This record gives sequence, structure tokens and C-alpha cells, in this order.
Amino acid sequence: MRLNVNRILHTPGASQDFHFEMDLSDLDFGGMYPVVHPVVVDGRVMNRAGVLHCELQAETTLRSVCARCAKEFDDPQTVEYACVLVEEKQDEENEDIVVLDKDEVDLADLARTAFILDMDTTALCSEDCQGLCPGCGVNLNEEPCRCKKQVDPRLAALAKLLQDD
Ligand SMILES: [Zn+2]
Ligand SMILES: [Zn+2]
Repeated sequence: MRLNVNRILHTPGASQDFHFEMDLSDLDFGGMYPVVHPVVVDGRVMNRAGVLHCELQAETTLRSVCARCAKEFDDPQTVEYACVLVEEKQDEENEDIVVLDKDEVDLADLARTAFILDMDTTALCSEDCQGLCPGCGVNLNEEPCRCKKQVDPRLAALAKLLQDD
């Protein structure tokens, strides 16, 4: 989605709203494709005292896999991004300054980059997810650990000895 800001470029106080959806279902994130729903982008470009400010919010629900229990879950994701749009390249390098191309800004590119940079590598189904038991492998959120029931045979023999005493 490209937005032409020509209308507000030299009009302090003017603003332009935008709204679009992005399909990022082919986004490979560590061998997984978590963006199963469209990413909805809403935002506005404002001319504040001659300077163009662009603000946007990208929102979707990811299909994530919990880093602790390996279960899939719905993971709401909201990313906010803001930058300043300029007509000509500035002397200083600044990632928050975006140069317009023939009065146009590629909003889809900005939103996509902001969204990818904000992706969390350690998604958790819940802050207090119990994870999987390293012993028996059960999902401790769903069932109790089975390890304790299997008594070590050596301990069983010892218990028998003590009993016989
Ligand atoms: Zn979990
Ligand atoms: Zn266990």
C-alpha cells in the first residue's frame, strides 16, 4: 500500500488517515508460519508545523507455539510504529526518518518491517505456563506429573528391607 501525501505535504495542520490489510501468511518465522490471519493496519499522517509525522498500528492474532509446553495457541499481537516523513534525505542516518518517493510512502513496507522486528521469539501460552515435565513429558498445565508414581526399583528394595526389619 503506497500513500501519496502530496495533499498535506505543505499544509500545516492537515492530516490523512489510512487503513489496509496485509497478508503475511508466507512469513517464515523459525520454520513456522504464525501469521495465519490478515494483519490490519490503521494509521495517520499528520503535518505538524510543516513536519510530516506518520503513526500506525498493526494488529492480528498469531497462531503461536508455546516455548514451554509446545502447544499452539491464539496470540494477539499489536505493533505500534511512528516515523517522520521527509522529501529529501537527511545528513544524519536515522531509522525513524523515511524519505518520500515522489510524494509517496510505502506504508505496507513500513508496517511489515515494524511487525517483523516486533515478533517475539519466546511466545508463552500464559505467563505462568507450567511447561512439560522433563521426566515424563506430560503437559503440566493439563495433567499431573506421572514421575512420582514410578518408584525407583532400588528405593522399593530398600523400603522392603526396612519393612522386614
Ligand atoms: Zn505453554
Ligand atoms: Zn513427570
